[in-house]
Amino acid sequence: MAELTGKTALITGAARGIGRSTAFELGELGANVVVNYQQSKEAAEELCGQLTKKGVKCVAIKADVSREELAEKLVKEATEAFGAIDILVNNAGITRDRSFLKMSREIWDEVLGVNLTGPFNITHAVLPGMVQAGWGRVINMASVVGQTGNFGQANYAATKGGIIAFTMTLAREVARKGITVNAVAPGYIETDMTKDVPDSVKEHVASITPLGRMGKPEEVAAVVGFVASPKSSYLTGQVIPVNGGMYM
Ligand code: NAD
Repeated sequence: MAELTGKTALITGAARGIGRSTAFELGELGANVVVNYQQSKEAAEELCGQLTKKGVKCVAIKADVSREELAEKLVKEATEAFGAIDILVNNAGITRDRSFLKMSREIWDEVLGVNLTGPFNITHAVLPGMVQAGWGRVINMASVVGQTGNFGQANYAATKGGIIAFTMTLAREVARKGITVNAVAPGYIETDMTKDVPDSVKEHVASITPLGRMGKPEEVAAVVGFVASPKSSYLTGQVIPVNGGMYM
């Protein structure tokens, strides 16, 4: 029997990138998968179709995680589909880069709304079920930028630093309830989020990364798979870097 057989994983922002790879990883480990998407219905349904062909039970559910009522509806529908949510991957995220002096309140609020309030909304709705079950895994997608800061990303870095602090706090609060809470902190990963980064920046990133290249979404997903599995039973409150050694 696969490690996650009988468990259900909800992955936010899973239609592409790291979320999509995570859906494949957790599905391969035996979990039922809830693919949350915001707009990409076609991509989400295509992903679910591929997973179903592999024998994974999958549903795609639309929701903007930054909106509390929609986040609650997502969790309700996911729970109705599979009975419970055992694994939550708070993956949905956006960037809206500007140097701080030029940063408008609008893009500050937008990034905080998705990257920080999103995980609040979803986790708040999922956690009571995990407490009742006495088992759960919450995995938050942080970033190396939340550990180092980054020029032009005051909003994004604040959310990723914030999610690390949220992870440690929640880990302390729910540890005795059988729930672990960890963060995965990717470095620069080849996804739509980084596709428009200028080549000069990509070359610089490669040059300061001991492994000498950007990462691939499946390399992040593999770590999420371990953190989600029963094998990680003594791991909580941690930030697990997947950054090619860029920050250590
Ligand atoms: P991506 O842009 O390919 O995927 C992000 C996904 O989140 C998209 O499918 C998008 O539709 C979804 N999303 C955005 N706003 C949403 C909302 N309000 N509600 C629901 N879904 C929403 O980017 P990615 O690289 O796969 O990023 C995934 C996560 O990894 C993000 O949290 C990101 O900050 C983090 N991360 C990425 C990198 C990188 O280099 N790519 C590095 C560190 C951390």
